[in-house]
Amino acid sequence: MTEPVVVCARCRAMAARQPLTWSTMLDRDGGLLLVCDSCTRAHLRAMEAQLDEEFW
Ligand SMILES: [Zn+2]
Repeated sequence: MTEPVVVCARCRAMAARQPLTWSTMLDRDGGLLLVCDSCTRAHLRAMEAQLDEEFW
């Protein structure tokens, strides 16, 4: 049986399961994306800079 693996939607970092420091966000199709802690911080900075969502 394969261990469940989560993958960061941005940098493709992988973890055996979702770490508490990772966050979730919705993609344009309403699907759930996981974002690792470092990308979450980068994303928050991007949001503060009001970059277009297409940046993702
Ligand atoms: Zn990441």
